[in-house]
Formats: sequence, structure tokens, C-alpha cells
Amino acid sequence: MVADTRRPSASSPDDGLEARLASVRERIADAARLADRPVDSMTLIAVTKYHPASLVRALAALGVTDVGENRHQEAQAKAAELADLSLTWHFIGQLQSKKARQVRRYADVVQSLDRASVVDAFAPTETEPDPRVVDGFVQVDLSGDPGRGGVPVDDVEALVDRVLAAGTIRLRGVMAVAPLGEEPRRAFARLREVSERVQRAAPAATDISAGMSGDLAEAIAEGATHLRIGTAITGNRPAAP
Ligand SMILES: *Cc1c(COP(=O)(O)O)cnc(C)c1O
Repeated sequence: MVADTRRPSASSPDDGLEARLASVRERIADAARLADRPVDSMTLIAVTKYHPASLVRALAALGVTDVGENRHQEAQAKAAELADLSLTWHFIGQLQSKKARQVRRYADVVQSLDRASVVDAFAPTETEPDPRVVDGFVQVDLSGDPGRGGVPVDDVEALVDRVLAAGTIRLRGVMAVAPLGEEPRRAFARLREVSERVQRAAPAATDISAGMSGDLAEAIAEGATHLRIGTAITGNRPAAP
């Protein structure tokens, strides 16, 4: 092969990116095989928070279709800059009810529904009587530590009822982060139980968003359908701006 001496172009800001993405896809395929689940039942979401829009563009060129962002202003700017790509944007950060209406203008999926006030913010208003419908996940707190985001396990069903009543959110399922200091598979097993309870009230809400760079295999073993992978794809994140 002839050596390519060109400097990296805008679409390849980091020549390790392709290899890291391939390695993550391999890890997902391996875990799916072990769990005896079809790999095409899983959606890889590349979490690109703190990284520039150029990195998202490079990922899209490598076949990434879904991206995750956790800060409203940053996500809004990137989605606007990359509007020419048909990416699916997942909002995965803590959501304030004040921001919810703005987030749904660019986010296709909101994964962090964790309070009634946030859910209610998606309801139609006088100025927006027929709002855009978004896909939603109820974020579940598996840690028992209220500060970390997520609805307590015992309050999930009440919040699900609220989501169904809102009429502006298509409920896809549940989302969670494995707590620090617990074997992730145990935590994800609890999430799977919560998912089963949710499906009694909302039979279409079968998706489970779980699994990050360090615990994607454990999440797949417990039924994850949406994997939110950051650093294993992007390399280290820049410091929070
Ligand atoms: C940052 C983030 C991720 C990705 O984490 P990595 O360990 O970098 O893969 C996944 N989910 C949420 C909610 C996040 O905030």
C-alpha cells in the first residue's frame, strides 16, 4: 500500500478513531454472541460530549448514526452545525424543565426523563399546542443515591403513567447508569426487572439503554438495546468547557 502523506483532513481528525470504533463494535458483537442475542437488536450511541462537531462528523463518515450529548447548549450548537447529516440525537444529561421545550427542537430521543416536572414540560402549551413528539426513556436511579439523576426504582411506574399521559413522548423504555462500587451486572439485572414492570403498563416500551465504555458486555448480558459509549470510541474527553 502506498503511504498516505497527506495531513489528516477535517473528516479524520484522529487516526485512532476508526480503530477504536471498530474495536467497540467488536466488543458489542462478542457480547451479543455470548448472550445469544442478535447484534442488530442493539443501537450504538456514540457519546460525543465536550468534543467538537468535527469529531461527530468524522464518526458519521464511519457509519455512526446515533450520537449522545448531555449539555443543552453544546448539543444544540452541534446539532445545528451538523444539520446536513441525518443523525439521531439522544439527550442523555440531566434535564431542567425550563430547557425541555428547547431540547425537543433538536433531540430525537430524550433519555433522562426522571421527574414529573420534566415530563410535564413536554406537554402542549398555548404557544406550542402541537409540539414535536420525541422518543423518551425513563432514567432509573440504581444507586439509591438521589443526587445522581434518575427516578427511584419504587417511583418508576408513577412516572411512566405521567409520560403516557403527556401524549407528546413516545416511551421507548428505561435508561440507567451502573452505580460506582457495585458489580455492574447485578445493577443491570435490577434494571431488567424494572423494564419488565414498565412493560406491563406500556407494552411497547421494551428498550433498555444501559452500558458505557467500561460495562457494555454486562449490559448486553442483561438485555441492553441501547449502548451509550463515549471514551472507548472518542479517546479521553477534553475537560468540561
Ligand atoms: C458520558 C456518559 C456516557 C459515556 O460514558 P463513557 O464511560 O465515556 O463511555 C454514557 N452515559 C451517560 C449518561 C453519560 O453521561
